[in-house]
Amino acid sequence: MKKGKTKAVKIKGKNKAKGKIKRNPTMKAKLKRKIKNNDSNQSIDLQNIPKIDLHCHLDGSLRETTVFELLKDIEKYSNLTLGEVKSQLTPPADCSSLDDYLKSFELPIAIMQTKENLERVSFELFEDAAKENVKYLEVRFAPQNHKMNGLSYDDIIQSVIDGMRKAESKYDIKGNYILSCMRHLSSESALEVIEEGVKFLENGVVATDLCGGEPLGFASKFVEPMKIAKKLGYHITIHAGETGIGKNVTDAIEMLGAERIGHGIFITTDKEAYNLVKDKKIPLEICPTSNVQTHGVENYKEHPLYDFYKDGIDVTLNTDNRTVSNTTMTREIKESELAFNLKENEYRDIYLNSVEAAFLSKEEKDILRKKI
Ligand SMILES: [Zn+2]
Repeated sequence: MKKGKTKAVKIKGKNKAKGKIKRNPTMKAKLKRKIKNNDSNQSIDLQNIPKIDLHCHLDGSLRETTVFELLKDIEKYSNLTLGEVKSQLTPPADCSSLDDYLKSFELPIAIMQTKENLERVSFELFEDAAKENVKYLEVRFAPQNHKMNGLSYDDIIQSVIDGMRKAESKYDIKGNYILSCMRHLSSESALEVIEEGVKFLENGVVATDLCGGEPLGFASKFVEPMKIAKKLGYHITIHAGETGIGKNVTDAIEMLGAERIGHGIFITTDKEAYNLVKDKKIPLEICPTSNVQTHGVENYKEHPLYDFYKDGIDVTLNTDNRTVSNTTMTREIKESELAFNLKENEYRDIYLNSVEAAFLSKEEKDILRKKI
């Protein structure tokens, strides 16, 4: 992003810049495009602008109607009405914390216990994202949550990849999976997920993550599994600094080798963490709607996203949970436009941050870069 921002500043002196590049038609065309993008009156074409979502949980992003339909097969939940399902899939208005918010995942996890259902919900998520012009989607899920009926890790991971591949063949979207490990479970369990997922690396799986409630100092428990994950070839992103503890971000980077941070908004309260993220250019996977909902911030205007952007931190914009947070990439961009008067050229910077932060090869990034 720093690059993009520098360029945006440079073109303020349009005539001077133009004079300098007069004899280079390619650069001239590029400059023209930037000037157009720098037009302060230009609003973002929300539906059609290309999007990248790097932080999206599968179990928080199921279609309400699908959950309702598939719950009919589970006796315990078969009598729930669509209205009841809908209300249980979103946290109560007085949701006071991340822990409250996490209760909304009970029904999705209940239905995600068969190969067919896992493949279906994965396909539908990619389909929904493709329809709002998401070009690249990294979906994360915790395989540990899908073993209630005895599915193997192989079956669980293969099923969601199958759903993704089906969507990729039908729509102009590419994806990858991130294997999350639940923080409240043991480090041995995390290591098991990491070892079982190896065969899918670079074949549908690109990274591992730690998620769930965020206690202070959680990192020490997971040093060993993350060290092994890195050795095996996983990229590492960690949920940290989502709920008030900036120090967890430092730990995630220094102790666990995180290349990206999920949320990280509480680096605002920890100078060391802030400087580390900035100096090491660690991309933050920002999910504004989710942060408002969990009261990480009280409203969009108070979200540090835009301050981070202006200060040269590599922010990316993401959904977190499309259903549980009632959001889409379109909404996240729209809310940022409303709260910060985000301009199209600034959105493009953020898109390009996402390209750089994506767990993809150079060639794959080149393709995404050209889409905007
Ligand atoms: Zn998340």
